[in-house]
Amino acid sequence: MFSYRHAFHAGNHADVLKHIALLATLRHLQAKDGGLLLVDTHAGAGLYRLDQEQARTSGEAAQGVGALWQAAATATAAGAALPAAVQDYIDCLRALNPDGVLQHYPGSPALLQAALRPQDALKLFELHPTDGRLLDRTVREWRARTPRPAIDLRRDNGFDGLKALLPPPSRRALVLIDPSYELKSDYGLVAAVVADALRRLAVGCYVVWYPVIAREQAHALPRRLRALAQHHGRAWLQAELNIGTPADPAAKAAAARGRPAGSLRASGVFVVNPPYTLAGQLREALPWLLAALRQGPAAAWKVDAGEPKA
Ligand code: SAM
Repeated sequence: MFSYRHAFHAGNHADVLKHIALLATLRHLQAKDGGLLLVDTHAGAGLYRLDQEQARTSGEAAQGVGALWQAAATATAAGAALPAAVQDYIDCLRALNPDGVLQHYPGSPALLQAALRPQDALKLFELHPTDGRLLDRTVREWRARTPRPAIDLRRDNGFDGLKALLPPPSRRALVLIDPSYELKSDYGLVAAVVADALRRLAVGCYVVWYPVIAREQAHALPRRLRALAQHHGRAWLQAELNIGTPADPAAKAAAARGRPAGSLRASGVFVVNPPYTLAGQLREALPWLLAALRQGPAAAWKVDAGEPKA
């Protein structure tokens, strides 16, 4: 079960999409003073080095955040403005890499903790023994820098752990559900955990990342999430980014023999109760992102959104 290590994928195009959507959502929710419960059910290691073996071996970050970092620098040098959501993300990256060389990549826990206000609380879950240990060390460093008992790491199952956290007394929550989908059962667990969360806190904001791959469960997941949102009378948003990596004949042959079909080409985020500003922000950001990250002619993006039925 534990072969997945996010360090090989940190900063790839899927992280870029997910982290931009997460940050834009968080900023909108923090425009109000009320305390927020932030939950990351599948937190990973928290912080990543892009100049070390795992990132270099996969090369995914170079084609993701590396390409974006370069495009942002070129645009800034030319005096061109970046889409607001991209600029915010780039500012977070710059804060971690103040000398201008992109070496450190913030996973979702790092992005969330950097934005934490005194009235907010951050709950992280990570089950992998090694990544849990790495995250534990990082959380201790965050706490030492700004003593905030409001950051809590549980080296436990995030699908199970979310239940006990909802609803928070403030009734304001942003929950990121970002499994590795290493197990096919993750798709069903995601739908079940969102259904349960909506019963406990219908007004919570739930951000789910999913891969766009040729697997029935993966196609079905956004449809199931949309049906859940509609059933509960909630607004929803679905954004996808496909960087159009050309098919690799070796990967195709491996897939035909039942092996994984190579690197991920496309992914999506599904948001239940998105901020009303999010669709507009992503429609501005995604074409810009795609221009920076595209790998082939099949590259595409989409943002769909729906309001609760009256
Ligand atoms: N959210 C992170 C980010 O954006 O930086 C990336 C998370 S990574 C895609 C998924 C993580 O979930 C892996 O580190 C994996 O070990 C962990 N994991 C898998 N199943 C889990 C579970 N049931 N509960 C908590 N963590 C789990």
